[in-house]
Amino acid sequence: MFKCEICAKKDPEHLDRCEKHYFCADCKTKENLCYYIEGLLCYSCHKNRVEKRIEKFGGETQFTGEIICPYCGYEFADSWDYSSGKLECEDCENEFEVAVNTEISYSTSKIDKKRSDFGTMDDLPF
Ligand SMILES: [Zn+2]
Ligand SMILES: [Zn+2]
Ligand SMILES: [Zn+2]
Repeated sequence: MFKCEICAKKDPEHLDRCEKHYFCADCKTKENLCYYIEGLLCYSCHKNRVEKRIEKFGGETQFTGEIICPYCGYEFADSWDYSSGKLECEDCENEFEVAVNTEISYSTSKIDKKRSDFGTMDDLPF
């Protein structure tokens, strides 16, 4: 059952907001609204927030558990869907390069000594 996340009105006119509460969180406009990771915002307020995030975010990331946009810090929720190469950030729309690091692991098994190609200590020249 859908309800307005602010006033809990049932079956709201919009996804999870009634008509009264459907507005941009920053400038209160009802135009060009969209649900972004930071909430319900109009496109220009979303762009402003992304710009601020890009200024603050340090940049390149290494060996993270998920793909993180090196521009805005947006974390991809489904990183396993992607392979190495160019990727466009879903949030700031910048293109960046991703390298998928494959984890290295080791397996061991016993070698049958009688059939081993290695000689014994007695064969060594000293
Ligand atoms: Zn409401
Ligand atoms: Zn706005
Ligand atoms: Zn981004």
